[in-house]
Amino acid sequence: MVLVCKTGGAGDDERWKSELRRLMPDLEIRDWPDTGDPADVEFVLLFASAPGLFDGMTGLRAVLSAGAGVDGFVGDLPEGVPAARLVDPWMQTAMAAWVVHAVLHFSRNMPAYAAQQARGVWRERFEEHFEPRRVGILGCGEIGRRTGRALADLGFRVAGWTRTPRDLGELENLHGAAGLNALLDASEFLVCLLPLTPETDGLLDAGRLARLPEGAFFVNASRGRIVVQKDLLAALDSGRLGGAWLDVADPEPLPPGDPLWRHPGVWITPHVAGVTNPVTGAALVAENIRRARAGEPLTDPVDRNRGY
Ligand code: NAP
Repeated sequence: MVLVCKTGGAGDDERWKSELRRLMPDLEIRDWPDTGDPADVEFVLLFASAPGLFDGMTGLRAVLSAGAGVDGFVGDLPEGVPAARLVDPWMQTAMAAWVVHAVLHFSRNMPAYAAQQARGVWRERFEEHFEPRRVGILGCGEIGRRTGRALADLGFRVAGWTRTPRDLGELENLHGAAGLNALLDASEFLVCLLPLTPETDGLLDAGRLARLPEGAFFVNASRGRIVVQKDLLAALDSGRLGGAWLDVADPEPLPPGDPLWRHPGVWITPHVAGVTNPVTGAALVAENIRRARAGEPLTDPVDRNRGY
């Protein structure tokens, strides 16, 4: 049983391999690009594709993602081979914690207090918001729901935007084009947790950002390309947006000269909001390998037509 491993960008390779070997001692793991005879390969574990990666893999049973997002390889999937996302509660909790931190940073005036501290100023900024503040989550799937619940527990009023209508429990659900406008119009904090697909690529342009309430904050933890970065910068420069926290950028790494780096309203982290945990991840991957070998459907299948 041969698996090709190309997890770069989603967890430490060596940790992935040692966990998979521990769980499946009969698994032979080959590092890409040293894949030997591609006809031997039954499984590929990856985060991002590469030219020719699947060439000659005539015995491929399943493609397994090392991350929650599959935009790095979904376009290259061989016909007829099932693929699975990594849907890991550990990662969902990590993502929720990162987003909560970013939203609280803005909602509790941390940028202003940091500026005061730099000048040795002790001055209370009394909260003027006695109504629940409104968060809109673009993409309310596995990570969006977990994040939305965490924010609702902290007193925020949360709405989640999805492609199809969903029952999100205590969270309001909006969907489709009309739902997007309603969500943007109301969101003091806009959180992006959408997958990158042909439909979401460049979704947040100048027109959509202009719908947000004056001084709204933007938090992006999914993929940089979903927001048109020059339009985001213009919205920040004009003061229309009060600030942004970006865990993702287009391109990555963000070039050293990019004006976002030095923008006073912008905080940047290097795609670390929900780093893959190879220990919990390997258990999920092992289960899908078992299923594929038994001829059972994979958990968390990728829909290549939707792109996520
Ligand atoms: P998921 O469970 O597949 O959820 C995706 C959500 O987006 C679903 O609610 C889906 O709607 C919605 N959606 C997709 N296309 C849409 C469209 N065109 N219009 C409206 N809604 C749309 O994915 P997930 O596990 O929550 O992960 C989300 C993303 O987070 C990943 O794709 C990845 O890019 C990102 N991520 C980032 C990090 C990091 O470290 N920064 C870590 C992990 C994941 P439906 O419910 O109707 O299907």
